[in-house]
Amino acid sequence: MESDKRARVEAWLRYGADLELGPYYRNRVAANVVVDTSQAVGAQSTEQPQAPIAAASRTVAASSSFGLSPTAPTPTASARSSAAALFAQAPSLFEASDRIKDDTFQLIRETIGDCTRCKLHKARTNIVFGVGSMKAELVFVGEGPGHDEDIKGEPFVGRAGKLLTQMIEAMGLRRDDVYICNVVKCRPPENRLPEKDEITTCSPFLFRQIDVIRPKVICALGSCASQTLLQTTQGISRFRGEWFDFRGSKLIATYHPAYLLRNPSAKSEVWKDLQKVMAVLGLQPKRK
Ligand code: URA
Repeated sequence: MESDKRARVEAWLRYGADLELGPYYRNRVAANVVVDTSQAVGAQSTEQPQAPIAAASRTVAASSSFGLSPTAPTPTASARSSAAALFAQAPSLFEASDRIKDDTFQLIRETIGDCTRCKLHKARTNIVFGVGSMKAELVFVGEGPGHDEDIKGEPFVGRAGKLLTQMIEAMGLRRDDVYICNVVKCRPPENRLPEKDEITTCSPFLFRQIDVIRPKVICALGSCASQTLLQTTQGISRFRGEWFDFRGSKLIATYHPAYLLRNPSAKSEVWKDLQKVMAVLGLQPKRK
C-alpha cells in the first residue's frame, strides 16, 4: 500500500481504537448472544455467554402436525424484557453502513440479472430468488436450491420444503405469511454444499433481501445458513436455539428440515426453537 494511504488507514484505525469500537468487529456469535436457552445441544455452556430467556418456550410440547401434541407457549416477563432489550439494540457500525438506501426486491432482482458471477450458474435452470411476503415478520433462510427448487424457481418445494411448510403451519402461519430464501440462489450440483466463494458472491443479495424486509425474526435453517449469517465456523449444535442479533432482527438457528427427514427424533428440538420464535411473534400453535 502507498505510504500516504497506509498512514491514513493507520490513523483511522487508531481513531476507532480511541473510540473503543473493537467489540463491533468481533465474532458476532460470541458478541450477540442476547437470549439463551439452556436447550442448545453440545458443550456451548463453557464458550457462549448466556442470559436467561423465555422459560415459556421450554415448557411447551411439540406440535401434532409435525410431531407431537400442541400447547400454547406463554411468554414470561423475563422473555418479554429480554426481547425488548434486544429490539432496542442498534445495528453495528458495519451493518448500518452496509444498508442500501431505498433498496427494493425489484432492484435486487435486477442487479442479480442473469447472473454468471459464480460457477453455480453453469448448471442451474432457474435463479431461486425467494418467496413469500415482503412484509413478513419471520424469514426462513436455507442453504441453496435442490433439484425441485431449481426446476420450479421457488425455494423449499421438495421433500424438505414440504416439511418446512408443515413446520410453518404448526406455528399457526401459512407459507405466504413468511419469507423463504436461501444463502445461494442457484443449485449446487449434486446437492453438494455451497462453496465459500459461492456464498461470498451470493450472500450479499440475501442480506439486501433481509434489509428490505426487516423481519422481527430470522430462522436460519441448518449449518450453512446459520454460519453464513452469524459469520462463524462453529457447528450449529453449539448455538442452536439461542438468540442473536442480525442487522436489527432477532436470529435463531435450528436444524435444517432435510436433517429432520434423516433424523426425525430431532424434531422435538426444532419444535422448541420454533416455539421460541412463536413466543416472540405472539403466535399460538395450530390446533388439530
Ligand atoms: N434446501 C434448502 O436449503 N433450500 C431449498 O430451497 C430447498 C432445500
